Amino acid sequence: MTTIGKIHSIESCGTTDGPGIRFVIFTQGCPLRCLYCHNPDCRNLTDGKQVSVDELIAEIQKYTSYIRFSGGGVTISGGEPLMQPQFVKEICQRCQEIDLHTALDTSGFVDLDTVKDVLNFVDLVLLDIKSFDPEIYRKLTSVSLEPTLKLARYLSEIHKPTWVRFVLVPNLSDAHHNVTELAHFVSSLSNVEKIEVLPFHKMGEYKWEQLGYDYQLKDTPPPSPELVQKTIDIFKSYGLKVN
Ligand code: SF4
Repeated sequence: MTTIGKIHSIESCGTTDGPGIRFVIFTQGCPLRCLYCHNPDCRNLTDGKQVSVDELIAEIQKYTSYIRFSGGGVTISGGEPLMQPQFVKEICQRCQEIDLHTALDTSGFVDLDTVKDVLNFVDLVLLDIKSFDPEIYRKLTSVSLEPTLKLARYLSEIHKPTWVRFVLVPNLSDAHHNVTELAHFVSSLSNVEKIEVLPFHKMGEYKWEQLGYDYQLKDTPPPSPELVQKTIDIFKSYGLKVN
């Protein structure tokens, strides 16, 4: 019997969470409370759908030919996948056994010793660093930044291919010192292949309303093209590849 976990949903041909066409598994449960979360219904591990690793692998196998043809793979996203480390480890291990590339999208808010073993079966980490200023980070997510930086340093030590993701939120994460200090930190790491600058959007706002949660970014606009370009230019000025 394989491990059973909780998922929110799956997407059989994702194109934004790693290279090529991806089979994306969105796991249930997240300890963060990001103000802009577009999947607020992912929060509670008590919700979601129960599924076994065997069932997921059987589903993935229906798509392996075009996933491989596109240079894609399987991405575990969330929620926070590393809330269910054994489940995620087994999915990634089974995917690698059938020669499928594995990517893990994580906030990094994890106990590093618990998740080191999972990382052995992950080919690419998509690490969300939502802010470099700890106060802004806490305001945005309700949790501490330090575990994410600890994971980032560890991934660098083990030379694990990583893409850093940064959501650009006007009047929050866009502060000049925040972007330059993040750029400086990321440029000191050995393993980061690129940074993705993701413009804030409000596509999840209706879900907050449906769930009766208070959406605090109602009046925050998406970043202007000029602000996005300025942010990209700062990262590039530190020698980083962007998007
Ligand atoms: S880490 Fe992702 S799933 Fe969790 S609250 Fe933040 S945006 Fe939502």
